[in-house]
Amino acid sequence: MASLRRALGYISLRWKDPSTCEACGNEFTCGATITGCWCMQVKLPKETRVRLREQYKDCLCRGCLDRARVEGQ
Ligand SMILES: [Zn+2]
Ligand SMILES: [Zn+2]
Repeated sequence: MASLRRALGYISLRWKDPSTCEACGNEFTCGATITGCWCMQVKLPKETRVRLREQYKDCLCRGCLDRARVEGQ
């Protein structure tokens, strides 16, 4: 089961198209693994995450998440 998970993650990573950040226009890859997107690991205040989710339909690049985190404090 563990090896199947790894295989699926590899497939999703390979087939993943880069996303364009809605906030700054940079290209970034979201959802790098099958277990979830790295952006969920970024520590954001709950209100900031909610606000971003209302504002943008996709994830933002790491730079914008970092900036949102700083601004949200
Ligand atoms: Zn960005
Ligand atoms: Zn993401």
